[in-house]
Amino acid sequence: MTGYQLADDISLQGRNTFRVPARAAMMADVKRGDALAELYDFAMLRDGPVMVLGEGSNLLFANDFPGVVICLTMAEIRILEDDGEHALVRADAGVGWNDLVGWTLARGLCGLENMALIPGTVGACPIQNIGAYGVEVGEFIETVEAFQRDTGQIKRLSKSDCEFAYRDSLFKQQLDRWVITAVELRLPRQRELKLDYAGVHEELAAMGIATPRAVHVAEAIGRLRTRKLPNPAIVGNAGSFFKNPIVPAAQALALKEAHSALPMYPGDSEATRKISAAWMIETAGWKGFRDGDAGISAQHALVLVNHGNATGAQLLALAHRVADSVQEKFAVALEPEPRLIGARWQSS
Ligand SMILES: Cc1cc2nc3c(=O)[nH]c(=O)nc-3n(C[C@H](O)[C@H](O)[C@H](O)COP(=O)(O)OP(=O)(O)OC[C@H]3O[C@@H](n4cnc5c(N)ncnc54)[C@H](O)[C@@H]3O)c2cc1C
Repeated sequence: MTGYQLADDISLQGRNTFRVPARAAMMADVKRGDALAELYDFAMLRDGPVMVLGEGSNLLFANDFPGVVICLTMAEIRILEDDGEHALVRADAGVGWNDLVGWTLARGLCGLENMALIPGTVGACPIQNIGAYGVEVGEFIETVEAFQRDTGQIKRLSKSDCEFAYRDSLFKQQLDRWVITAVELRLPRQRELKLDYAGVHEELAAMGIATPRAVHVAEAIGRLRTRKLPNPAIVGNAGSFFKNPIVPAAQALALKEAHSALPMYPGDSEATRKISAAWMIETAGWKGFRDGDAGISAQHALVLVNHGNATGAQLLALAHRVADSVQEKFAVALEPEPRLIGARWQSS
């Protein structure tokens, strides 16, 4: 029995959280990692355009996809090693990310609690090194197992091979090369909880929790996220549409002098700082803006939203207008966080 199923001319509108219309020329539902080698034998993975689709919560279809869309459906989670202090957990690419967070917390393992309720699949979590509330997944990943399209082999990549950085990794740099089939994370049973990110202490206090455990942190963050971010089941969106820019420290300090309220965080080195894209977009007047069905969320200025029938091209056009105005007002270039399918980002 083959480990995959093929279908022609498939609608992707229900498979992306922006809910924009788009079609795939072909879709391959893959049930086992070794089925990728079978597809490779048919030359489908060697020639022509291929993309992997998880829950579609971090991409924008500006056009149809003219090649094969691969969806990985294997979804097992198991513990490979457990020495009482740490456990090595393996999760297949098709596992829902938040299901993995809940599974690990239920077994007394911590680390992933600050990333509770991030939408998407485990297979996508290394792509942009997902992170929230001061924690990134790369901290816990020990190995990523991935099918390498140019060799047709399954490869095991160590954490250092993955080149994790802020919303970045080797896989994001080489999107056409890798199909991630499973991720292995080493998680502790005890760790100092990270509570100092905006609102976490207050939410725990509101829940009446004085001595929080990891499960309480996950719940508090779930509550905060539900309040702060629009729900894609109600209004189409892909979470933060823009990355927080990382700029030279001197530029950040000059901006801070001119705009004292601009939130600023450590950069990726001593010489850089990360500055808040949301603050700049809101200050430039875009929060709650709407043009037809394309808009900027009134809840969170970083979130581009589809109020109903916007196309990917219309959403992208609005994103460019926002970036151009931030460039004009602050001389800072914004870059999108989601992957654009069928279009290129034109820097201002
Ligand atoms: C409301 C909302 C809130 C969000 N909050 C956060 C947040 O706090 N932090 C954060 O980091 N992200 C956040 N995101 C973005 C998104 O949830 C993550 O990036 C998530 O990891 C995407 O998973 P996915 O399965 O939907 O991937 P998709 O959107 O389907 O794909 C994203 C990219 O990964 C590639 N890809 C997917 N699976 C694989 C695979 N198995 N192998 C190789 N490539 C693959 C795709 O080709 C594409 O390039 C948010 C999104 C939404 C809608």
